[in-house]
Amino acid sequence: MGKLNGKTAIITGAANGIGKATAAVFAEEGAEVVCADVNENDLLDTVSSINNNNGQAASVKLDVSSESSVQEFAEHMKSNYGTIDILFNNAGVDQEGGKLHEYPVELFDQIMSVDLRGTFLVSKYIIPLMLEEGGAIINVSSMSGLAADLNRSGYNAAKGGITNMTKAMAIDYGRNKIRANALAPGTIETPLIDDLAGSQEQESGRQFREAQKWVTPMGRLGDPREMATVALFLASDDSSFVTGETILADGGLMAYTWPGKML
Ligand code: ADP
Repeated sequence: MGKLNGKTAIITGAANGIGKATAAVFAEEGAEVVCADVNENDLLDTVSSINNNNGQAASVKLDVSSESSVQEFAEHMKSNYGTIDILFNNAGVDQEGGKLHEYPVELFDQIMSVDLRGTFLVSKYIIPLMLEEGGAIINVSSMSGLAADLNRSGYNAAKGGITNMTKAMAIDYGRNKIRANALAPGTIETPLIDDLAGSQEQESGRQFREAQKWVTPMGRLGDPREMATVALFLASDDSSFVTGETILADGGLMAYTWPGKML
């Protein structure tokens, strides 16, 4: 008996990284998963590997930053599934943009529009499908939503917004049996790291990964499945009295005040 038997779960940003791993783990636990992403090619991989593994998965193209795309998606979900039990808001983008006075306005707008406004839009249009029976929402924030990074004010603003908007959701829907929590990953080995710093094959990517390992008490980057299992806790009845919370899963990175002491 899986922890999510009989549940229908939406995973946004399911084509890669944390979303892909979470779709797989939710399906292993018995959920029927709807995998949504702008990247249709990679999304097919996510869905076929779940279905080949005796899971139940479907793919839907979705641009979380477009209100009309989200509305169309919600209509599709309503007519094909009726009610939704779990929403994992994970679609996101990230890029360095320089110090705030140098930071391109277009980049700020793009990150806010996918990461923060996208989480708002998908929740706004999917929550009506949860109101009757209740459900669980998990928003992917970040350690960068709890503290800040150099040259990433847009991402810090968007992820900080997600952390607090999660509390707003918890308050708005507590009486409707909808719980809303956030997951705050540390540095996880996903394509987002490639976008941010470069791939493992590039010098910049290698240096970034080495620095992250050095400042992380556990001495390594996280694996997407290690985020998926925290998401599973938040999605399942194991966390039935947890709402409005953000769970940090960062290998201890934010536990100390002075990384220099690691030496
Ligand atoms: P991480 O797993 O670390 O959060 P990834 O870059 O691996 O980061 O995954 C983010 C996912 O979000 C990708 O699959 C990407 O295609 C998806 N995504 C990015 N922008 C959008 C968008 N506007 N709508 C839907 N999905 C998006």
